[in-house]
Amino acid sequence: MDSQQFREFGKAAVDYIADYFDNIKDRPVLPSVKPGYLEDLLPDEAPEHGESWQDVMQDVDQIIMPGITHWHSPNFHAYYPTAHSFPAVVGEMMSAGFGCIGLSWVASPAYTELEVVMMNWLGKLLNLPEEFLNCSEGVGGGVIQGSASEVTFIALLAAKEKMVKDLLEANSPLTEGEIKAKLVAYSSDQSNSSVEKSGLLGSMPMSLLKADKDGKLRGDTLQKAFQEDKAKGLIPCYVVANLGTTPTCAFDDLTELGEVCNKENVWLHVDAAYAGTAFICPEYQHYMKGVELAESFNFNPHKWMLVNFDCSAMWVKNAKYLVEAFNVERIYLKDKHKGLAPEYRHWQISLGRRFRALKLWFVLRIYGVEGLRKHVRDQISLAKYFEEFVVKDERFELCTSSMGLVCFRLKGDDHLTEKLLHVVSERRNIFVIAGHFNGKECIRFAICSRLTQREDVEYAWKEFLAATEQIVSSKAKITCEVTGKKILSAELTKMANHTEKSK
Ligand SMILES: *Cc1c(COP(=O)(O)O)cnc(C)c1O
Repeated sequence: MDSQQFREFGKAAVDYIADYFDNIKDRPVLPSVKPGYLEDLLPDEAPEHGESWQDVMQDVDQIIMPGITHWHSPNFHAYYPTAHSFPAVVGEMMSAGFGCIGLSWVASPAYTELEVVMMNWLGKLLNLPEEFLNCSEGVGGGVIQGSASEVTFIALLAAKEKMVKDLLEANSPLTEGEIKAKLVAYSSDQSNSSVEKSGLLGSMPMSLLKADKDGKLRGDTLQKAFQEDKAKGLIPCYVVANLGTTPTCAFDDLTELGEVCNKENVWLHVDAAYAGTAFICPEYQHYMKGVELAESFNFNPHKWMLVNFDCSAMWVKNAKYLVEAFNVERIYLKDKHKGLAPEYRHWQISLGRRFRALKLWFVLRIYGVEGLRKHVRDQISLAKYFEEFVVKDERFELCTSSMGLVCFRLKGDDHLTEKLLHVVSERRNIFVIAGHFNGKECIRFAICSRLTQREDVEYAWKEFLAATEQIVSSKAKITCEVTGKKILSAELTKMANHTEKSK
């Protein structure tokens, strides 16, 4: 393909994406294809002869698009948002266009240097303590990683390296191997599955401690777990605190956890994957209180900050620990000199690096801080708007409402909420998923798409109402599916239990 054809193909692709966004609302949020649909539509072998880009584009529309879940539909309310914006899409395109691999400073100086500056901009926006920033005098710094999962794992490896070194330096009678076999990590039972995975990957048992009724891991719970494990001869090494848990967007108290960790020389990592974006607004920064007690901090601009996947921002107080864990050359970093660029390959798992800073720069410049704060505040106010509908309808119970996430349920037995979710899912007009709150089934309603507006929230609420009518009449009477009799809603729970048992 020559550059003239690229101009045409590229422009056609941009038009296709722009049209897709202009009309995304008209598409059903979930595809209706069945598993394996694509295999029948594609040839068994790669084409022997090159085809035209026009043919390829046609197949995108006819074969690929039917199998796309529309994450940016205003009716998408599942999981958490995944970021999307046009500036970020162009940033991705240009990064692909340059096609460098930033494995060292000289491999493409702008890659490293823009990342350093972007991580400073971002860190200052969040009001992170200065010692985490590249621009501070010390050994801290920020880096862009691929995902929060990766960051949790990387921080675990660094924590392991640090603990082994600390204990050996303190003349521990144990060998390096013996120390490693005794290390334990902790988080709450509300943490993301990737936290448990990091323990598996890093061969460090991850204890998922019970959170309190508000979904927070408490300091005394952590302290008790440390004591019990130490009594067994184990060595507490790594704790992952949550700012914005996946199930309900609950916030751990960093001061409480940090004090316990600091006392025991345990590495505290903060996972703020989703909610971290809100900290660009001063009114939400109080959730970070105590962050100065942490060794590492992470949030995903690729979730809520309009920077397309992948872009996960990680800061550490002391980059030496990362380099020690990852530098196969084992030439230890001396104290960082001001102005000297970090060799980011020693801060990560892979050798090659993408130019992720470019899309971040585009988004920060084109939206501006003001534009990004407005995005966060608008989305939170949409969640509040939904919350009001839930609270006003006495058939429903609000479980939690935090940031852009509302968790709610039908009053009564879990079967009712399960049924509601089932009916809503069958109707396929909006996409939501189930959650749990204090052992009860709930529905997670997240404001995800940047295109979602008040009318879309109203639409979603009407979907819940219509589905509810099918299972709980507003006049407290429904027609029993089995006997055809009218029954009171109070009896519905009994019914649901009975139906379930008789299955
Ligand atoms: C989404 C999420 C993750 C996982 O993020 P990835 O970048 O996809 O790895 C981890 N922790 C929390 C709290 C999350 O919300």
